[in-house]
Amino acid sequence: MTTYDVIILGAGAAGLLCAAEAAKRGRRALLLERSDKIGKKILISGGGRCNFTNLHCQPKNFLSQNPHFAKSALARYTPADFIALVEKHRIAYHEKTLGQLFCDDSASQIVAMLESECRSAGVKIIVNAHIREVRRDTSFLIRCDSVEYRAPVLVVATGGLSIPKMGATRFGYDLAEQFGLKIVPTRPALVPLLFNATDRKRYSDLAGISADVIARADENSFREKMLFTHRGLSGPAILQASSYWREGESIQIDLAPGRDATQPIRQAGTRNAAVAEKALHAFLPKRLAERWLQQHPPKSWTNASLDAFERELHSWQIHPAGTEGYDKAEVTAGGVDTNELSSKTMESRKVPGLFFIGEVVDVTGQLGGFNFQWAWSSAVAAARSL
Ligand SMILES: Cc1cc2nc3c(=O)[nH]c(=O)nc-3n(C[C@H](O)[C@H](O)[C@H](O)COP(=O)(O)OP(=O)(O)OC[C@H]3O[C@@H](n4cnc5c(N)ncnc54)[C@H](O)[C@@H]3O)c2cc1C
Repeated sequence: MTTYDVIILGAGAAGLLCAAEAAKRGRRALLLERSDKIGKKILISGGGRCNFTNLHCQPKNFLSQNPHFAKSALARYTPADFIALVEKHRIAYHEKTLGQLFCDDSASQIVAMLESECRSAGVKIIVNAHIREVRRDTSFLIRCDSVEYRAPVLVVATGGLSIPKMGATRFGYDLAEQFGLKIVPTRPALVPLLFNATDRKRYSDLAGISADVIARADENSFREKMLFTHRGLSGPAILQASSYWREGESIQIDLAPGRDATQPIRQAGTRNAAVAEKALHAFLPKRLAERWLQQHPPKSWTNASLDAFERELHSWQIHPAGTEGYDKAEVTAGGVDTNELSSKTMESRKVPGLFFIGEVVDVTGQLGGFNFQWAWSSAVAAARSL
């Protein structure tokens, strides 16, 4: 039996930073990771360059049943705090767009940075740790294959369900339930959407084509690129909207944001399909402009018909059949109910000494570095209270 001050489950973004910060505060910290490597998701994040935070991070960039929950942690460990850490390790970075900060070179630098913070603070990291049992009597007991570890504090940082082939499991949710904590039902988020059968026939051959659009779901709108895939729609605008979309609801897509698309048709000497196609092609890829006109032609060339045509261009109603699921989802929405946790420390209200941080909690960031910022902020909130 080996005893520590704190045991952290999961050496992902949240677990690594929490372990380092706890150890810096003099706590003997043990970090147990199920897979053979630490920080695997960080390595594949941001196309291999890790979008590690967002300069414009605000509570409104997060979904949760309690939209106020994330405020305290986000205010006490901000993007500037994480940037200071990145700069201390001399990792070069740049702003790509919309406040999104990426490594110039590689996401592996972020993993190396976190590992170095852990090592220099004295964190004990064990990979390939297969946890068989978690119990609590006077303290927490964690039984791996042949070894038992004990600590008065247990931090669960085992992430969400997305990308099961990288080892994502229900472990964190099951553990929460084992200790009587409620779970907000989980669902894939930041995920491509699937066409219904009709739209699939109409549009799937446009795979690879993208356009600048505004995608809206549940009153939230995102102006970014949309991408046609063989099975549906993707691209940042759709991924963002997908987090707010619920089965059976529609997504509205503005294919001509901020434009009076029919103006050139109205002004033309002759109004016809060729003129309309040229007008759409001014802002849409040619094949999409052609397809749109085939599928949604104006009823006639009168002003009233063009008004209707214009309205439809700005509010294309898509009824997705579903999402690509956890295999393709960047994150998991839902998770450990925030009502169960202190927003200052992430500690369970019911079970003293039990903490949940990162994606396993019902706090989900929008696309753009917000999910990592939540991992960092919630990790530090917990570590500071240990
Ligand atoms: C392809 C992809 C790209 C992404 N890009 C970005 C991006 O650029 N910016 C951004 O902000 N977010 C991005 N995300 C989201 C981001 O990676 C996650 O939100 C973040 O990693 C969550 O951190 P976490 O520590 O809570 O969980 P994770 O990083 O998933 O870490 C959880 C850890 O727990 C381990 N674990 C699981 N079960 C057990 C167990 N039973 N015992 C021990 N260990 C266990 C896992 O192996 C893993 O190492 C991306 C996600 C994906 C899938």
